[in-house]
Formats: sequence, structure tokens, C-alpha cells
Amino acid sequence: MKIIFSYGLGLDSTAILLRWLTDPASRWFDLRDLVVVTAQTGDEWVETAYLVEQHIYPLLARHGVRTIQVARTGRRQADGIVILDDTTHPILCLTSAPGAYRLSEELLSVATVPQSGGIRKCSLKFKGWVLDQVIAQIVGDEEFVHVVGFEAGEVKRMFRDMPLGPGTRIPSYPLIEWGWYRDDCEQYVLDQLGVRWPKSACVQCPYAFSLAEGRDRTIPRYLANPHEALLGLTMEHLAVAMNPRQGLLAGQQLYDLIASDPDSGPLLDMFDRHLDRMPWAIYDVRRAMAAKPGDAMARGQTHRSLELLVEGSRADVLAHLDRAAYLLGRDVETDGRHHRVWLRTRNLYYPCVEHVLTAAPALAHDKTYRSFETAWLAGLNGPAQLSLSF
Ligand code: SF4
Repeated sequence: MKIIFSYGLGLDSTAILLRWLTDPASRWFDLRDLVVVTAQTGDEWVETAYLVEQHIYPLLARHGVRTIQVARTGRRQADGIVILDDTTHPILCLTSAPGAYRLSEELLSVATVPQSGGIRKCSLKFKGWVLDQVIAQIVGDEEFVHVVGFEAGEVKRMFRDMPLGPGTRIPSYPLIEWGWYRDDCEQYVLDQLGVRWPKSACVQCPYAFSLAEGRDRTIPRYLANPHEALLGLTMEHLAVAMNPRQGLLAGQQLYDLIASDPDSGPLLDMFDRHLDRMPWAIYDVRRAMAAKPGDAMARGQTHRSLELLVEGSRADVLAHLDRAAYLLGRDVETDGRHHRVWLRTRNLYYPCVEHVLTAAPALAHDKTYRSFETAWLAGLNGPAQLSLSF
């Protein structure tokens, strides 16, 4: 029977692999049956890839363990997946590769950041779904063991995971069986390899900041890896330009957190030059917000329309926005980094709408959801709007 191991490149799953590869008594199967599978989002920290290449791939290669890396090839499921590597002698951890569709590509094209509440849609789309496809290709209709690296503190996640997948899936959670918590994994990997293994995550992952400890770890990581910081900052800049309520840290901004570090000057200067070098655009952004059923003060579903109006250099686009504001008899609202002209602001009551012209790097694409016009009309005609005009 095949043993499929979802290798997320992080500490917990690294601890399992390391133990299985170095301590045969810790496993119940032959390594010939093991298949290690990694779904690449395209945005993993290079530092993680480097550690995997230095410490884990040589071990997998020594034991001839089949190792597969896989990614989405497009936005839609119909675009399918691409096998980036399928080998018993892995060398390179392909965090980004030709043919792979990156999570950041998707987020930049729609000018948003990964959402930090509720279901982790990005993870389901770029990891879970991709793994399901490749596992189906590997095992066909056969029964298989699916190994997941939840640690002993994640029993709740285990219970949620257990019933998932096809009837041929037999889930296995070695860290929970061994009673290993995160600290145990950290100590084990440190003892075996002499390195503090970082949490695997996308460069722009909002969950990296959810605890103070995560922030303390992530900000120095950005300062030490400016090119990866630029990706996170650019993504956030674009999203905030469209909607000032956005931000990588659950509504707060990564920029502000980095700026509060006394050593952040060179990185922020670099970011400003990076913005200068990009093509810019004025976007017309309309947002229609429904009310939650039975509560006109609670926001329901939001529908958005995004349209690129004019492109040019950063300086040209800001000049165009000034001119538009003058002609429309409005002010340019600015916090020094973002520049917007509001045509309509949202009300206290829903349904309602907001409408803004904003300047931002020309990375996002036009997008108006099919349901938008109906929602926009409902917002325009919402009772709150009518009452304001009396
Ligand atoms: S690491 Fe974070 S940003 Fe990346 S897929 Fe997972 S939840 Fe989303």
C-alpha cells in the first residue's frame, strides 16, 4: 500500500520525515512505498527551499524516496495541475517554476491580500485541491495511507481532517501518535540538523503575524530578505489603494509594522524605488455592500467592480488623478503613500455603495463580477442612501 506524505516543507512535517529517514524503528512501512508530495504555491520563502535542499532532499535521495512537487497551472480548476518534479533523487525545491501558477499572481491580478479570517481559501485552492489531484493520479482506486503533519496540539484539526477525501484514504497523524508538540519537533530538528527550522508559509501569509511571537520572527525575516519583502509590500500597497480597510495583518498594514522597526529605512527606500519603476494606473473601483438578513447595520456580501482607466508612470498617473479631482470638484485623499478621489463613500446602513478613483501599480486586471450590477443598483437604492438624500 502506498504511503502518501504531504510535505508542507515546514517544521512539523520535516520532523516526521527526518525521524522516518534516520530511525527505521519509528515507521511501520518500507521506504519504497513512501511518496513525498509537496504542493508549491509559488510564494514560499527561499530560505525554506534552501534548508530543504541542504538537509532533506539529500536524505530522500540517499534512500531513493519518490518525491513529487506539483502546482496549479491557472486560476480555474479546468486549467489543471503541473508536475514540477517527480524523482527519487530530488535536488531543487521548486518554490517557483515555469508553468506554475503562483498564488501571488492571482492576488495581484485582483488587488487583494489573503484573507486572515474564516476558511483559508488560498490554502485550499493552492495546496489542498492540488494535492487531491496528484494523489488521485498516484493511487488511482487503490487504498492508501495519507500522512498529515498535525502536531499533538492540533487534535481538533485531526478530527476535522479524518473524514475528508475518498473512501480509499486511510489518514495517519504520526506526531499526534508520538505525542510530539511543536516544541518537541523544534528540538528534534535542532538536535538532528543543528538548525532552527522556520515555519513554512507564503511570503505574504497573514497568519505569520497572528501572534506577537510570529511578528517578532517575521519582521526580521523581511528585513533580511528585501526581495521577498517587496512582494508582500507591493501586494498590500495595491490592495490598500483599492480599499483602505485592507492590510496584510487583518486590516492593519505590514508597511506600518515594518516602518516601526528602526532598521527599516533602507528597505522602505528600496520599496519606494520599486514602486517608481513600475507602470501605474488609475483604477475606477466600485463596491456594493449588501445588508445581512434582518440587520441593516451589519454588512453582508460585498461585490466589486474594478476597471483600469489610464496607465503611465507613477508621476504621470498622480498628475492625472489631481486633474481629475479638480475637474470633479473633489479633493485627493492621501496618507502620503496612497492617493484616492472618493466619488461616493459608504453609509452606516446597508445596502450601500462606495466609489473611488485610485492610483496604484498597474498590476491588477479589470474585473466585474456577474452579480455586480444588480448589487450596485440595490446599494444605490438602499434605504440608507435614500434617507441621506432627503
Ligand atoms: S501559507 Fe498562508 S498565504 Fe500561503 S496558502 Fe497557506 S494560508 Fe494562504
